[in-house]
This record gives sequence, structure tokens and C-alpha cells, in this order.
Amino acid sequence: MRDVVTIIGGGPAGLAAAATLKPLGLQVRVLEQDKSVGARWKNHYDRLHLHTTRKMSALPGLSLDLTGAVTLPLFGEVALPGKDGVIHNTFAGIPDVPLERFDLAFTGGTTMPLTLKKDVCRGVRQRVQGTFTGHNGTIAKVSTPLKVAGCPPVVTFKRRGHRLTVRITAGRDGAAIKSATLTAPGAKRRSVKTKQTITLRRLPGKKAFRVVVKDTAKQSWTLKVKA
Ligand SMILES: Cc1cc2nc3c(=O)[nH]c(=O)nc-3n(C[C@H](O)[C@H](O)[C@H](O)COP(=O)(O)OP(=O)(O)OC[C@H]3O[C@@H](n4cnc5c(N)ncnc54)[C@H](O)[C@@H]3O)c2cc1C
Repeated sequence: MRDVVTIIGGGPAGLAAAATLKPLGLQVRVLEQDKSVGARWKNHYDRLHLHTTRKMSALPGLSLDLTGAVTLPLFGEVALPGKDGVIHNTFAGIPDVPLERFDLAFTGGTTMPLTLKKDVCRGVRQRVQGTFTGHNGTIAKVSTPLKVAGCPPVVTFKRRGHRLTVRITAGRDGAAIKSATLTAPGAKRRSVKTKQTITLRRLPGKKAFRVVVKDTAKQSWTLKVKA
């Protein structure tokens, strides 16, 4: 009589054990209390996806192949240029799961800085392109609009006589403007609102105005603006 192995539970471990034992000539019986095998996984939350690599998630006799279109939404923030005028940043990865937890190679590496020389706060929004290589060699190319953090607010003045129209707008991807204070040489410091027209008794000649802008994310900028 052939040996019979009884496995309690038809989850991944039970099924893997059964798949390994059967080729050895053993009779395997899997007892599952639920209506179907893999019941735990079927009853997890809707958005469930493997966080282990495909290699690590494979079961005996079941390899997970990467086939068809692959999309990996890129998400990262790029800070403004430092003193050297070049933007340096570490790419954050993809939503929910850090990139390095996948068996993926990111061109530039997962911790390599992105280097940009353009002013990403103005003009047409740039895109970031990434190429990912899955552990099985499948390549996924992703292109995503570049999101930036830390762009300064934009302050513009229009001068007509002693009247100034002040326009203050949040920088690209920046938080809403909370307050702004205008300092003009020879004039009182005063708070200003966006699109406000103010009258100053004395207007400075070629000297610049100083505007301190605070946003709702508690960031503060001191900007010099010529009228
Ligand atoms: C949200 C979530 C995400 C996860 N993501 C991953 C991942 O990405 N990669 C990974 O490797 N692991 C992941 N895990 C862990 C994963 O659950 C385990 O790796 C895997 O399910 C373990 O398999 P198992 O067969 O040991 O247990 P289970 O999947 O729990 O299976 C046990 C089975 O035994 C049955 N059973 C229990 N008692 C009895 C009984 N007395 N009689 C009969 N049947 C019984 C149960 O009904 C069940 O079907 C995740 C877990 C959770 C909760």
C-alpha cells in the first residue's frame, strides 16, 4: 500500500508541499476547511497584489511569468537646483511599495540622483522616463510628468504712477499662498494679497521690493522684485 500524506490546509504552503511530494510517488491528500483552495488569498482585500518578487512568489510547478504589457507608475519628486545649479534627487519609487523591494533594475539605479539642468518650475512640464527590467528580463518603459517640490511663488508687479498691481501665485505644484508681506525702501511694511492694487506714497527708484511669501505648507520665501 502506498503511503498517504495528509496535508491540512490548501493554502500556498499546503499546495506547494503537495506538488513537491506527489512526484516522489506519495499519495497526497489536502484537507481544506474552506470551499476552495487558496481561500485566504481569495478573501483578501481587492487591491491585493504580491509584494514579493515573482521569483520569490513562485510555487513548485507554478512559475510566475511576466507577460503582456507592464505598467509601473513612476512617482517621485525632484527638488530645486542647489548652489551648483543642478537638481539632485533620489527617485522615490512607485506607489505603496519601494522600488527596491521589487526585483527590478531602474536605469540610473534606485538610489542614483536624477540630474536636471533645466528650470523645471517654468515652461512646459517635463517628463521623466524610466526603463525597468523585470527579473525575467522583460523591459517596461514608463514616462510620467515630472512633479516638482519647492518651486518658489511667482510675484509680479505692474507699476502705474504710485499704484502697483501685485500678483502672487503659488509655484508649480506648490501649496496655496497664505500670506505675503511687501517691504519697499522708505515705505511701511505691509501685507498684500494676490492681484491686489496698492498705492505707495514714495516709490523707490531702481531699488527692488522685497516680498516675503508664506504658503499653507509652512514654507517661506523672500523674493526681490523690481517694479
Ligand atoms: C495582505 C497580505 C499580503 C500578503 N502578501 C504576500 C506576498 O506578497 N508574498 C508572500 O509570500 N506572502 C504574502 N503574504 C503572506 C501569505 O499569506 C503567506 O505567504 C501564504 O498565504 C502562506 O500560505 P499558507 O498556506 O502557509 O497559509 P494560508 O494562505 O493561510 O493557508 C492556510 C489554509 O489552511 C486552511 N486551514 C486552516 N486550518 C485548517 C483546518 N483545521 N482544516 C482544514 N483547513 C484548514 C485555511 O482555510 C487556508 O486555506 C501576505 C499576507 C497577507 C495577509
